[in-house]
Amino acid sequence: MHTHKGIPVSPGIAIAPAFVLDPDRLRVRRQSVPADEVQDELAELDGALAASIAEVEQLRASTEDMLGSELAKIFAFHLGMLADAHLTQQFRHAIERERVNAAYAVYAVLHRLADTFLHHKDRYFRERVTDIYDLQRRILGHLTGGQDQGLAAISGPCIVIARDLTPSQTATLDKTLVRALATDLGGRTSHTAILAHALGIPAVVGLEDATRNVNTGEQVIVDGHRGLLVAEPDAAQLLQYREEVDRIAGLAEARRELRDLPAKTKDGTLVELHGNIEFPNEVADALDNGADGIGLYRTEFLYLASDHEPAEDEQYEAYRETICRLEGKPLTIRTLDLGADKLTHDGIGGEDHDERNPFLGCRSIRLCLQNLPMFKTQLRAILRASSEGPVRIMFPLISQLMELRQAKMVLNDVREDLEDEGVQVAGNIPVGIMIEVPSAALQARSFAYEVDFFSIGTNDLIQYTLAVDRGNERIASLYSAAHPAVLTLLKEVIRTADRTGTDVSLCGEMAGQPEYTMLLLGLGLRRFSMTPPAIPEVKQVLRAVSVEQARRIARKASGFDTDREVLNYLRDELGRIMPEAFDGRSIGY
Ligand code: PEP
Ligand code: MG
Repeated sequence: MHTHKGIPVSPGIAIAPAFVLDPDRLRVRRQSVPADEVQDELAELDGALAASIAEVEQLRASTEDMLGSELAKIFAFHLGMLADAHLTQQFRHAIERERVNAAYAVYAVLHRLADTFLHHKDRYFRERVTDIYDLQRRILGHLTGGQDQGLAAISGPCIVIARDLTPSQTATLDKTLVRALATDLGGRTSHTAILAHALGIPAVVGLEDATRNVNTGEQVIVDGHRGLLVAEPDAAQLLQYREEVDRIAGLAEARRELRDLPAKTKDGTLVELHGNIEFPNEVADALDNGADGIGLYRTEFLYLASDHEPAEDEQYEAYRETICRLEGKPLTIRTLDLGADKLTHDGIGGEDHDERNPFLGCRSIRLCLQNLPMFKTQLRAILRASSEGPVRIMFPLISQLMELRQAKMVLNDVREDLEDEGVQVAGNIPVGIMIEVPSAALQARSFAYEVDFFSIGTNDLIQYTLAVDRGNERIASLYSAAHPAVLTLLKEVIRTADRTGTDVSLCGEMAGQPEYTMLLLGLGLRRFSMTPPAIPEVKQVLRAVSVEQARRIARKASGFDTDREVLNYLRDELGRIMPEAFDGRSIGY
């Protein structure tokens, strides 16, 4: 048995035989072409390019049907390359001047291009290497009649393990057979991660050497909650995971009944439970899980899933669609939170500065305030969509009052411009901030006078309070929402919000982890926003406890000196209140 630690990008647990995609790249034989056959090779090339364009178009259309227009944009890069005259000219030159066969010309030109991208200083280009190989495989498929043997060979339930998966491979996976994905490469915002999440397949990326250490046919477990790949698990581990799968399935069944019940505590206090989404089509899942609205729409994913800066109309359409899908339920739109781990390609948000400390660098609201045209485009799109339903605007990573004031000024300018143009904009749009930097938490009182609401982003608040990179697996054990310093900040922000009459919610991962539900309720939180599948479980806890009980638990939890003590205590309390449901579970944060 060996366990590999990676980055969890799509939740769920799967146990199945491994299907390891042959990591060896395609190789194509170079053949010399006599002068009188050059035209035939060129004609073959044109045919293969036309067939590839048709195929990618079709893939784009079916992805759009299945997953929505945002995700379908992933294929725009492929179409762009196929339509790029400079690139296709290079294929032709190789055939005409070097007299090589069309297949080799395509293979060699794209191989060189991939190599250049691989060593590019801009991460966007480095991340496109898999797209180039994807395209290479596709065109060669038409020239040599070859198939993508790897995935085509899947014939039964399995877990796909690969160096990396191309967007086309991920989008066309047979969901009835593929139970999970695990890749050596990739990060939280890689296309594989985004698509796997949208497809609802558990996935772990960034495993580094899984393809070398696992063989096809071996039994493996993918734990998409904790970011683990367990190869050849022993009997005890298998049993533990099987029980967890059963437990999750059992809970899911029981929770379906919870959907339409209110999130009301035992003593009748109503709590709002909202969903966090990245794409408009996730609204359905949130509503299905009983969400009262969307508390965090991470709009940067519009950019991350696209190969160009989304124009105002594109953004407007995405926001309008999200609002309409919510049918009157409120939507909190967070303005772009790009930068740091959420990197996009060159040209979006200015030049790609290789920052030494990107989490402390020009990310999020800082990036927006330094790129006003981009920021204004987004705000115009949001304001235009605001006439369709209830919307709130939220600025991320605010660390000082001046940033908030500037952002509000830009928002007012944009509103005035739209009104001058005669565009309809909703009258009173609540404006709020994420509290995810300790300075904002400590200065919550000052902020409270200038905003309509707070949303506490514990994912970042924890990393900035504890100086622990939230994505670094080497120090993952130091990253804890239960740290007493984090609890002190939470307590202060919630109390300040209460005293100043400011709406407050919490939208970090912590909100969806039942171990923390009673603590947060006891600290005074009445609005939670979380990944939609977590809503029923949190609701179940809320319905099993009274506010008085929760206050007692919060008081006691605040008295410990270490996160371990807090966590053990919270687990014990949860176990006491819901013994069957949460027996033995462990949590990631
Ligand atoms: C957070 O930081 O808690 C948050 C919700 O934002 P994100 O995870 O998108 O950084
Ligand atoms: Mg954040």
